[in-house]
Amino acid sequence: MIARILLVEDEPSIADVVEFALTSEGFQVAWRTLVCEAEVEWAAAPFDLLILDLGLPDGSGLELLKRLRRNSELPVLILSARNAELDRVLGLELGADDYVTKPFSPRELAARVKAILKRTARLAPVLDDASVAPQVSDTWFQIDEVRAAIRFQNHLLDLTRYEYLILKTLLAQPERVFSRAQLMDQVWPDPAASFERSVDTHIKTLRAKLRDVDTMLDPIRTHRGLGYSVRVRHGS
Ligand code: CA
Repeated sequence: MIARILLVEDEPSIADVVEFALTSEGFQVAWRTLVCEAEVEWAAAPFDLLILDLGLPDGSGLELLKRLRRNSELPVLILSARNAELDRVLGLELGADDYVTKPFSPRELAARVKAILKRTARLAPVLDDASVAPQVSDTWFQIDEVRAAIRFQNHLLDLTRYEYLILKTLLAQPERVFSRAQLMDQVWPDPAASFERSVDTHIKTLRAKLRDVDTMLDPIRTHRGLGYSVRVRHGS
């Protein structure tokens, strides 16, 4: 199936480059220049990815991303002339999947788009509570890799992609302490472009979701200055 990409960018010369780079890879690209147009567009038609400029004539791309994330997991790649660390961190914390700084190489952009789509396609199947195959296990967690789902105390967790990948990585080796850098290597498509603080943010939301299921267990442990590990049963 051909992936459909929504490009929100107000500079025509840049939009041309992006459009050319992506259509020559076989993607379909819809180009819009305004925040308000983008919101109409994604409400009207399903897209596989959003490429988002931050400085737009009628508003901020970050605000747009914040509104989108209230009810959508649509993968987002930020394309910005601003290379400020704050924008980058904020973008990733607001749920962007990657951040590319202008000027960029069209081939690199296409490669990053493909990497995001590949990763999200793998995790895309809609999670249906009843569809998770029960696994016999004496631990608090069950992973269903095919459906990218994790149960905790027999409750299906409603996880974002990053939370899922972080928890899956921790669960692969219970009790092992993973540094933030190791978690980023496992989870982020391009760890160099992300920040270790993002790991903390996702761990925080993950903990809150586990606490919703069981207020007492708190299975994720913080090892100060080292990283995180997970316990999977009592007495460990
Ligand atoms: Ca702009």
